[in-house]
Amino acid sequence: MTLDFTLAGNHHSVRGTEKISFRPDRPITEVVFRLTANTRPTVQEGNKIVVTSASADHGAGKYRFTAANADPGTQGGLLHIPFGRTIPAGTTVTATTAFEVTLGQNSFDRFGRAGGFAYFASAQPLLAWQRGFGWHMENLINFPAESATSEAMNVDLAVTAPARDVIIASGDPADPAKTSGTRRWTSHLDAARDVSVAAGPFAISDTTVNGVKLRLGAPDAQTRNQLVPEFHRAIVELTKRFGPFPFPSLSVARLPAEGGGIEYPGSILMLDSSRLVVVHETAHQWFYAMVGDSQALHPWLDEAFAQYAENLVNNDQPQDNALTAPGPVDASTESYGQAVQRYYFITYNKGAAALLAARAAAGPGNWDRAVRCYADANAWRIAVPADFAQAIKDLPAGIAVLRTAGALK
Ligand SMILES: [Zn+2]
Repeated sequence: MTLDFTLAGNHHSVRGTEKISFRPDRPITEVVFRLTANTRPTVQEGNKIVVTSASADHGAGKYRFTAANADPGTQGGLLHIPFGRTIPAGTTVTATTAFEVTLGQNSFDRFGRAGGFAYFASAQPLLAWQRGFGWHMENLINFPAESATSEAMNVDLAVTAPARDVIIASGDPADPAKTSGTRRWTSHLDAARDVSVAAGPFAISDTTVNGVKLRLGAPDAQTRNQLVPEFHRAIVELTKRFGPFPFPSLSVARLPAEGGGIEYPGSILMLDSSRLVVVHETAHQWFYAMVGDSQALHPWLDEAFAQYAENLVNNDQPQDNALTAPGPVDASTESYGQAVQRYYFITYNKGAAALLAARAAAGPGNWDRAVRCYADANAWRIAVPADFAQAIKDLPAGIAVLRTAGALK
């Protein structure tokens, strides 16, 4: 995938182009992309994406949109490029899109601008293909959580931004020479499902921990100096539990907005400075970025694991009553409708409580080895709950706990 973004001088919008080549493992009649920026609450915060062109090879026809619960004032939630015929499995298909994303003010989301800073992630149309599954055409959801399913791809990223801005993005782009006008930042990732980009007058720190290059930018030096050791701690502690850090670099942008953190491959948007959020978002580098999952259909496979990692690293107890809360841990994001608090409580808190209880029941040594094997065996693919069940198949006490919690069948 080649992604090329140009951020407007006033930070109000981003123009982009995307070129994707992939080889579907079953026959296809169209190419489908997900337009995350058209999610209703995201649009209400002043963001949206407009696709200005889309095409594919093999004689593809004119592109069209379906609503998929997107904000009604937008083109829709799914972009389709139809073929006039069935394209056989194993054919290399190349699709190109051009688009413009509007950035809202101070949104608690993956798009926005705040003060002199701008940020955007999942900004490009997201290829909705999963090997062994097909197209993910689930509706966009009603709250600003993740609902995409993306395969890891080889990514070349370029960002053109006002010369005054520093860019913090997936793949750790190096600083271009100082010029007036604009500067172009480029990076490469061997395997990434998505990217995030942040721009602004960051106070930067470049350090290395466990061989991982950490670039961290914050609006001021004090916040930066507070966060750097927290990320060092998170990388060291999580590596001990889950295996080597999945990327050569981690790029962290602390933005002057509040709302938590948002994980991307090799990058994190921080809208918070707490130790809990640092560990949670860093854990997503293993669970989401490396071991992928459908964030629409089985969101507990990344969120419960990130929350569980927080509990382990910080030696915290699971939240009271979480394990006995009604409702299965393995439920789709869309199934929660508007009930965002319930989505968080069941997916994150009940899911983490179930993993901790399963670990205690199975014996922590055996359990931790099985979790590392799961991460290794499912690296750079999209795991489903049955893959985790397979990894812990010799730990029946752990399986029983996860079945009772509705995480496994
Ligand atoms: Zn999370």
